[in-house]
Amino acid sequence: MGLAMSVAVSAHAGEPLPVQVRLTHVAPDTWRADYQFSQPVTSIRFKSVGELRKSAWKVLTPGVALAAGEAYDALSAADGKPLRQVSVEISAFEQDLGKQYLATDKLSDGGRLIYLGFLQGEGQQGKLLRDMAANFTLAGLGNETVLVPAKPATPVKDTTPYAYFGPQTPVAAGEAQVLLDPKLSAWAKETLLDITARMSAYYSTAYQQKLRQPLLLVAAVSDTSMPGLSIKGGVVGGQIVYRLGGAALLTADNPQKRAILAELVAHEMAHLWQNNVRHGGISEQSPPWIHEGGAEAMALDGLLRSGIWSAEQGKAFADATLAECEKLEHSFDTYRGIYACGFERFSKLKVDIVPLWRDMIATADSKGEAYSEAMINSLVARGDKAAP
Ligand SMILES: [Zn+2]
Repeated sequence: MGLAMSVAVSAHAGEPLPVQVRLTHVAPDTWRADYQFSQPVTSIRFKSVGELRKSAWKVLTPGVALAAGEAYDALSAADGKPLRQVSVEISAFEQDLGKQYLATDKLSDGGRLIYLGFLQGEGQQGKLLRDMAANFTLAGLGNETVLVPAKPATPVKDTTPYAYFGPQTPVAAGEAQVLLDPKLSAWAKETLLDITARMSAYYSTAYQQKLRQPLLLVAAVSDTSMPGLSIKGGVVGGQIVYRLGGAALLTADNPQKRAILAELVAHEMAHLWQNNVRHGGISEQSPPWIHEGGAEAMALDGLLRSGIWSAEQGKAFADATLAECEKLEHSFDTYRGIYACGFERFSKLKVDIVPLWRDMIATADSKGEAYSEAMINSLVARGDKAAP
């Protein structure tokens, strides 16, 4: 046993391995994933995601076992024989995974979201590791709607989205398609739609580019019994998934709550433009403070220049964020430090954030370069970025 598991696999090589993945919604909180490989593999390796696979995945193929590890989880046959097909049952798993995407989420009307990225891995063939080129086929439960973002007309970076299974059909809001939880309060719904439309117009003009991928926006409501207001967002490709909760979501409208939601929307949408490249940009090599702190700075600029926030609101946000970074000792070591201190780093450059990020996006897109401090420094050093 030990021998087979300890084979050192050092390099990725070869073409991606074509894999058909059929994902069937078999019960409200259960899916079945059937993997069919174009060539046999000795094991299937996935990047670990907390306890996700250990707790929510059950192998259905006889003789195949899941080994959950620190860095990787792997599926392989107990007898070491090559595999062509593997089936796994996947249960809903809504634990907060920190920096990682939420694995699954639910809407109050029974709709479900599942992040397909966690179904992607690598196929191992002897010492060779090949990325999966997964082609997903989705099958719903009964006559529910099954949805993933439309295939973009222009080339985009490869991303794996969330899939939606549920009773709704998306509605058009400007150029975006939206799926909103019916439990969303009127003020939250209005704010989401209004800020999405206005920031979309602002970012398109300021960054001088339309999105390569049409936006699919999903907002789920959860945990409305908890005190306060809890809002989170995640961007995958042309998709934004919001999760809103807390008792304050359902209580009366107020400007403070609108401002918090507006900032989140502007932040998440900034990622859409940061990611609006064919390659490069946000990647595993790029330090997270760049895209998170950058999104905070782009959001503040956008909220001010589009007239959504007053100068006082903008100053209050900037002051609070800088104070938070100071409290965190100007370090990127904490989750909030990445945002607050990333924002501080951009503030300290004393440049207009719009031309800087416009050039960063263009550099990534044309050269395939990942966002880096060196890229920022060289663009700033060009000296044409001084704020008016
Ligand atoms: Zn972000």
